[in-house]
Amino acid sequence: MTENMYDVIIIGAGPAGLSAAIYTGRARLNTLIIEKEKDGGQIVITSEIDNYPGSLANESGPSLVDRMVAQADRHGAKKVYDTVIACDLKGDIKHVKCKKAEYTAHSVIIAAGAHPRPIGCTGEQEFIGKGVSYCATCDADFFEDMDIYVVGGGDTAVEEALYLTKFGRQVTLIHRRDQLRAIKSIQDRAFANKKLNYMWDTVVTELHGDGILEFMTVRNVKTGEETVIKANEDDGTFGLFGFVGFIPESELFKDQLNLRNGYIVTDDNMHTEIPGVFAAGDIREKSLRQVITAAADGAIAAMEANAYIEGYCLVNLG
Ligand code: NAP
Repeated sequence: MTENMYDVIIIGAGPAGLSAAIYTGRARLNTLIIEKEKDGGQIVITSEIDNYPGSLANESGPSLVDRMVAQADRHGAKKVYDTVIACDLKGDIKHVKCKKAEYTAHSVIIAAGAHPRPIGCTGEQEFIGKGVSYCATCDADFFEDMDIYVVGGGDTAVEEALYLTKFGRQVTLIHRRDQLRAIKSIQDRAFANKKLNYMWDTVVTELHGDGILEFMTVRNVKTGEETVIKANEDDGTFGLFGFVGFIPESELFKDQLNLRNGYIVTDDNMHTEIPGVFAAGDIREKSLRQVITAAADGAIAAMEANAYIEGYCLVNLG
C-alpha cells in the first residue's frame, strides 16, 4: 500500500465525518479524514446543543466537538488539514486531490457539510468581521451592550438570537415573513424573552459605514417602506448576524454525483450512485439536518463502506 492510499477517505470533520471515522476506526479500516478548516463543521458555530442525546446541560457546540474529535482520534483515524480541489470517484480506486497532496482510497465518504447562506444585501462582503457575522459563539462578545440584529426566522436564527440576548443591549430579529419557521418550543422561549424584539416582513437591503458597519437600510416587503437603522452614537457600530440557512458544499461533486437543490442524493444507506462512494450529514438530501442525524448518517456510511470494501452487502444480510 502506498503512503497516501487508504481504505476510506472521509471528507469533512463535522459530526457526520467524525462519527464515520469512529465506526471505520472500530472496523479497523485505515481511515483518513480531510478537513479544510476547523473540526466540527456547523456545530462549532452553535452556542448551545440542547437536543443531542447525552450532551451536557448548556453544552456548547465546540465542547461537544472536542469530545467527538478525541473519540475519532482514539479509534485511529488520521487527519489532514487540506482543501479538496478535485475528485475522481468513478474507478475502483478513488482519487482525492487536495491543495497540498493527493490521496487515494477504496471508498470515500463525503461529509463536507454546508456553509452559511449570505444575507444577500449590498455591502455584506465588505462588512464581514466589521459588524457582519454568521457565528454568535465566535463574535457575540464584540457586541457586548450594543444593539444586535439577527436575520432569519428558522431554528438557528431564533436560538442564536436568544443566545445573543445575553450580550446585546437589545436584540432585534429581522424576518422576511410575519411568522417564524422555528419550532414551537424555541418560539415560546423567544417570545418570553424581554430583550428580543421583532421586525416582521422585513429584509435588509444595504449596509454602510466607514470601515465598520454604521448604518443599514431595511425594507418592509409588504409596504415597500424603507427605514435606515443607525448605530447608537456612543457605540459607533452594531452587530448584524445572518442565519438564513445553509448552502451545501457540493460544487466539487456536481459532475459525478446526482444532486437535488445542491444536496447529494443517496439511498437510505448513504450510497450515492457510484459504488464505494457515500454521503453523510448536511450535504445529503434529507428532511432533518441535526447533529443526531449527521452522526447516524456517518455511522451507516462507515459500515456500508466496510461492507463495500469487504465485498458483501450489509442490507441483504438482514
Ligand atoms: P432554515 O430552517 O432553512 O431557515 C432559514 C430561515 O432564513 C427561514 O426563516 C427563512 O425564511 C430565512 N431565509 C432564507 N433565505 C433568506 C433570505 N435570502 N433573506 C432573508 N431570510 C431568509 O435554516 P436553519 O434555521 O439554519 O435550520 C437548518 C436546519 O437545521 C433545519 O432543519 C433546522 O430544523 C435545523 N436546526 C435545528 C436546531 C434544533 O433542533 N435546536 C437548531 C438549529 C438548526 P422563511 O421562513 O420565510 O423561508
